Amino acid sequence: MRKKSLCAGCRNPLPAPFLDLGDSPLANSYTEPGSSETEEFRAPLAVSFCPACYLVQLTHIVPPKQLFFSYLYFSSFSESYLRHAKAMADELCDRFQLGPQSTVVEVASNDGYLLQYFQQRNVRVLGIDPAENIGEAARLRGIPTWTRFFGPDLLPELEQEVGKVTLIIGNNVLAHVPKINAFLSAVHGALGSSGHAVFEFPYVLDLLERNEYDTIYHEHVYYYSLSALKRLAERACLHLVDVSHQKVHGGTLRVFLAKYAREQPSAAVEAMLLAERAAGLLTPERYSLLGSAVEKQKAEFTGLLRRLRSARKTIAAYGAPAKGNTLLNACGIDNKLIDFTVDKNEHKQGLLLPGSRIPILAPEALLEHQPDYAVVLPWNLATEIMEQQAEYVRRGGRFILPIPSPRIVGANELPEAA
Ligand SMILES: [Zn+2]
Repeated sequence: MRKKSLCAGCRNPLPAPFLDLGDSPLANSYTEPGSSETEEFRAPLAVSFCPACYLVQLTHIVPPKQLFFSYLYFSSFSESYLRHAKAMADELCDRFQLGPQSTVVEVASNDGYLLQYFQQRNVRVLGIDPAENIGEAARLRGIPTWTRFFGPDLLPELEQEVGKVTLIIGNNVLAHVPKINAFLSAVHGALGSSGHAVFEFPYVLDLLERNEYDTIYHEHVYYYSLSALKRLAERACLHLVDVSHQKVHGGTLRVFLAKYAREQPSAAVEAMLLAERAAGLLTPERYSLLGSAVEKQKAEFTGLLRRLRSARKTIAAYGAPAKGNTLLNACGIDNKLIDFTVDKNEHKQGLLLPGSRIPILAPEALLEHQPDYAVVLPWNLATEIMEQQAEYVRRGGRFILPIPSPRIVGANELPEAA
């Protein structure tokens, strides 16, 4: 692990962090019960803003190989995310008139959750994902998948296998790649002359406005504004031609990059760049405000849980997402405050959340134990979860939504769709 002194985008000196969440375990390092607590790997988790190229980035980099060693996030476990994926595939097939003559490559293709919809429309697909277990799941469902990191060294093999690529997709990948300039150059190199790349990533403005600091973890090296992304793309000779805002993952940008500047950037690009300037995303002050908002949320959230505990209430959680681990560890909440959590992902059941060491059980445990309160850790899926767990609420259970500030959700009250 190394501390960065220079911006990974433009190589200018990197200022001190605007937010420091302390030494944290890796958010995806779910641990076996009985494993040693003291041996758990921890690394500094702090974020800095580069005023020269606007890139928001972690100050310490954990080597990707360490992060992806056992990656347990299967995209197909979220129904709302599958709907998002299907809609995305349909939109891209229509927009780029994709058919049997086209090749779509997805970087960080996970279990094939997205490429399956392109395949259904007779488009040739190839997934690339570094996690062995997830790649195997994709291959089992008939999605050709390479267990590799995408980068410049992959280009000769890629060209030999599929030729030049029509469309490269990367959903929630740009945030994960430490060597971002080399990655985008490789995207440029892999595309055919009329090729495009489409990337989705969590939008830093949503993070700031809704206090989504739990989406900060070691795997997310970058937190993008469109202004920062534009500069990175230009450095790799890619042209930003369109952008749209999506609701998934608490607020996401979808950007369209073209290999050659044959099309004018859309009005949406210009409008968003202006809006970012007006919102203060090009200056350090806006980012510093997040630090105080985070301290306030932490005090309110831990205060609420402690008050409930002193009133002899039982507290559990729903979900075991990576973001929940940032939240719990930043707040210093562990298995003395939260008895257990439940998750549909059977790969996580039976393990402990890293740091907090809260046991992960199957979803049925919520009704079996009927805790008085359940903290919804994947708050971006709160509506879906609360609908599925209506019986828990009917029997008197109450959900707690931690972000942007903690609130208890009543029996007849559903949160806004995330
Ligand atoms: Zn920079």
